[in-house]
Amino acid sequence: AYNFCAGPATLPEPVLRQARDEMLDWRGTGMSVMEMSHRSDEFVEIAETAEQDLRELAGISDDYTVLFMQGGASSQFATIPLNLLGENGRADYVNTGIWSEKAIAEASRYGDIQVAASSEASGFTTVPLQETWNTRPDAAYLHYTPNETIGGLEYDFIPESGNVPLVADMSSTMLSRPLDVSRFGLIYAGAQKNIGPSGLVVVIIRKDLLGKARSETPTMMNYQVIAENGSMYNTPATYSWYLAGLVFKWLKEQGGVDAMAAVNRRKATKLYEFIDGNDFYANPIDPRFRSWMNVPFTLADDALNGTFLKGADERGLLNLKGHRSVGGMRASIYNAMPEAGVDALIDYMAGFAKEHG
Ligand code: PLP
Repeated sequence: AYNFCAGPATLPEPVLRQARDEMLDWRGTGMSVMEMSHRSDEFVEIAETAEQDLRELAGISDDYTVLFMQGGASSQFATIPLNLLGENGRADYVNTGIWSEKAIAEASRYGDIQVAASSEASGFTTVPLQETWNTRPDAAYLHYTPNETIGGLEYDFIPESGNVPLVADMSSTMLSRPLDVSRFGLIYAGAQKNIGPSGLVVVIIRKDLLGKARSETPTMMNYQVIAENGSMYNTPATYSWYLAGLVFKWLKEQGGVDAMAAVNRRKATKLYEFIDGNDFYANPIDPRFRSWMNVPFTLADDALNGTFLKGADERGLLNLKGHRSVGGMRASIYNAMPEAGVDALIDYMAGFAKEHG
């Protein structure tokens, strides 16, 4: 079966097999990783190796601290302003869809948050070009969402933010292609797309941005505290951290993010080309900003949605139903989706269009 689900997790099959094989007895310790003390030599090695592999994959320099936190990407919507805004700070946000909106709504509880640009008028089908952004040079940071998971909208550029730290929600694009981390003040990614199980969130923060949290910031949300304690201020999500480590190893075996990007580009290109070339299907996104990871599409007749999904299910093409706020279909094609899965989907779509078009 091929799982086109947007989340909670789509892990590469070899990773799941390895986790199964190691489940009861990790390397002769007689313990599952789940049962190990997070302070044990074994687990500390698992944790450090995972961080090292991530650093290597994403090209993260020593100027940055990597944190393995909890509460998913959504908890970062509050954690970021609490840590970076300062007492009466201001921050600019770009609104490109549902995830940007959630980040903006949460940050607005903590400071002077301005929407510097929005593509709402287009129905979030495009990314506002940076020339049109109204950003403030004295903002504490500039936040954007490189890939809108629900809308299927992805930036093809990294915004210029001058001296203002750039903050990015990379939940659904992290590790899908190469990235110049040095352009960012802070990157965060809910793990459940290209990294590991849900709940875990990876934060990559430039070291000079640590230690600025407001006094009322909950301890568990204070980057400085989490950094000083090696992401083990409390009991970390050990098993998720371990699984993320297995995913990083798998990614390295695939040739890293460059190799992944080549496959991801091919997968997305062939799916969009098929959709564009077939009157029966449509994708509303400005072609320049179509997501490599999440491909929403509609059928010519909504009344056929149920039939389409049932037939897909029978062929092992799972979870193609679009997000409830958008309708239609959505194929999420993260790193773990093999190219053969996209080929199988296109094959099914072509047959379905022929039969019902
Ligand atoms: N940001 C983006 C871009 C997402 O796609 C998601 C979840 O799909 C989130 C944030 C929220 O993540 P979480 O469920 O881990 O809080």
